[in-house]
Amino acid sequence: YCCQGGKPSEVVLLRSFTYITPLLLLVLLQVVASDGVRAMMESALTARDRVGVQDFVLLENHTSEAAFIENLRKRFKENLIYTYIGSVLVSVNPYKDLEIYTKNHMERYRGVNFYEVSPHLYAVSDNSYRSMRTERKDQCILISGESGAGKTEASKKILQYYAVTCPASEHVQTIKDRLLQSNPVLEAFGNAKTLRNDNSSRFGKYMDIQFDFKGAPVGGHIINYLLEKSRVVHQNHGERNFHIFYQLIEGGEEDLLRRLGLERNPQQYQYLVKGNCPKVSSINDRSDWKVVRKALTVIGFSEDEVEVRTNIAAACMTPTFHFFVRDETRIHVDVLVVLFQLLGVNGTVLTEALTHKKIIAKGEELMSPLNLEQASSARDALSKAVYGRTFTWLVNKINASLAYTDDSYKNWSVIGLLDIYGFEVFQNNSFEQFCINYCNEKLQQLFIELTLKSEQEEYEAEGITWEPVQYFNNKIICDLVEEKFKGIISILDEECLRPGDASDITFLEKLEDTVGGHPHFVTHKLADGKTRKVMGRDEFRLLHYAGEVNYNVNGFLDKNNDLLFRNLKEVMCMSENKILNQCFDREELTDKKRPDTAATQFKASLAKLMEILMSKEPSYIRCIKPNDSKQAGRFDEVLIRHQVKYLGLMENLRVRRAGFAYRRRYEVFLQRYKSLCPDTWPNWRGKLADGVATLVKHLGYKPEEYKLGRSKIFIRFPKTLFATEDALETR
Ligand code: ADP
Ligand code: MG
Repeated sequence: YCCQGGKPSEVVLLRSFTYITPLLLLVLLQVVASDGVRAMMESALTARDRVGVQDFVLLENHTSEAAFIENLRKRFKENLIYTYIGSVLVSVNPYKDLEIYTKNHMERYRGVNFYEVSPHLYAVSDNSYRSMRTERKDQCILISGESGAGKTEASKKILQYYAVTCPASEHVQTIKDRLLQSNPVLEAFGNAKTLRNDNSSRFGKYMDIQFDFKGAPVGGHIINYLLEKSRVVHQNHGERNFHIFYQLIEGGEEDLLRRLGLERNPQQYQYLVKGNCPKVSSINDRSDWKVVRKALTVIGFSEDEVEVRTNIAAACMTPTFHFFVRDETRIHVDVLVVLFQLLGVNGTVLTEALTHKKIIAKGEELMSPLNLEQASSARDALSKAVYGRTFTWLVNKINASLAYTDDSYKNWSVIGLLDIYGFEVFQNNSFEQFCINYCNEKLQQLFIELTLKSEQEEYEAEGITWEPVQYFNNKIICDLVEEKFKGIISILDEECLRPGDASDITFLEKLEDTVGGHPHFVTHKLADGKTRKVMGRDEFRLLHYAGEVNYNVNGFLDKNNDLLFRNLKEVMCMSENKILNQCFDREELTDKKRPDTAATQFKASLAKLMEILMSKEPSYIRCIKPNDSKQAGRFDEVLIRHQVKYLGLMENLRVRRAGFAYRRRYEVFLQRYKSLCPDTWPNWRGKLADGVATLVKHLGYKPEEYKLGRSKIFIRFPKTLFATEDALETR
């Protein structure tokens, strides 16, 4: 009674609970007839009310946000953190370890029908895997949500699921290990403690897992997006620099630290204590270093490479890398010899480059001295460039170790995992939020296109008339940001290239002139020449699909330029450090063309990402953070309502419910409800479609309540299905 095909499902367990328990209790009741027992029975009977519905499409009132959140709340209280919207999985971060990721759980979800078991990450993983195997179509799983919502944990759990459940050989085992071990390494260099998440990914990540014809993972490839380099030189109060720095000084072996010239005390390093919290209770830097060190070996780093890479990390934070003013006019750099050794550069040349700017006047090269502020920003630019470029080097190195090397067989299939920053709205939003929110607009556009497309395709495949759905197409906002010549990025680039008086404010003025009348763009200026008091003179507002965001233009030009002075570049190109040598290519120096700006590079990488995702069949995981205090059991309704909005979940549900709330293959539907009709019980011997037609006729379904497709029944309203479920229970 409790199992379906040997695998218990939430629905079946629930039924057995609501059905068997009351029966037993009734017998008991006759014996004792106490109030307590009666109360217990009542609670058993209302189990469905207690745990909510496992698919939002089954909500009676699907347009009500309150009903949506109430359903989430009910399930969250019962530790049921997963709920579907059709095939989209909504996940609420439990902030505690639940016993739902064991090997037994993995087995339970292997090869079963998506809807027969309770919603789970593993169901989505397994479904993608099986579609890839049976339909030979590449898949991707898109995970979104705000910082701390559980995206990275989800992507790690999916990877573990494949590592455990997919077939393995010796070579495959090596790849599985490397895929898994790439996580601690990338997290060490790319994650940091922030106010929102103690282990916040400060870069976007897309990872392809390649499977051979037997379904075994044989390779992988990672693409990284927009690392938050500014964290290397600055952290807000309560936040830290990237984990690796603290791991190194806490966990690094004595002789390693001696060679690197490092001390164990983070207070020594100005780049590590800007946020004033070098220690985090949930993080053990010392043991994490051991994990990272081991992972680097598994991935295939040689001893030498590890040493060189740690050199660079050490150089990025070295305490002696600061300036002081000795007299009024000249600044000096106090740099220890060890830094030059770490970076593999000549000390005098680097010192000169850090305090001077090379300018070419009348064909002659001149070294113009920098003031303290300029020199500090040159130093920061160098640290950021070194860290950013070596991060990319690290990703390339991991990719080389994951690359599928067997040339004889190139015909693999792919499951891609996208773990990327969600929509961000802070008190003060800058260039970074602009890029991140633009990325989310693009993903939303893809989501709408693909969801509608797949709905439409399913209806057509089943021979059911497609009724067009009204929805908000956010292409208009994407265009506003990215359109050639007149989009915000183009205008920003134009200002970055313009010599003379270009500044963040002239950029804003140009925006007003160019896109001022756009329905999704607002500044303090009103059409009649007056000003909007609620907005600052240095900000613009975008009306995103998920809500309004004000962006402050301060720093836009600098961040978009992302320039390193030419003489600093020259020094780095001469580096004898083997990794830096690969990161700073001499060709850059002779290349007359200006490198693309940060926003343009990001735009191009997003366009590529969209192309990759478009060529695959998508699954979605939408992660929600239940509270801001990283606490288990706290369901902060206001915060959750915001996320439901930003994730576009109500819109998603609307599209999914536009036609039919519920659809099932004939055999599944018949198997479940055949006992309700004498003609289909115990077995229907004719065509499945006829069996279902006979069954629903017997159940009294009205013609407007359902449609029969080629292989599936489509039911328009949840109440029809619930009535059938109830009939099953009271039979
Ligand atoms: P994001 O990548 O969305 O910023 P993370 O995946 O890093 O967020 O999750 C933040 C923290 O929340 C994790 O470090 C972990 O403590 C907790 N967490 C997330 N998902 C789960 C889960 N499924 N079970 C238990 N804890 C989780
Ligand atoms: Mg993350």
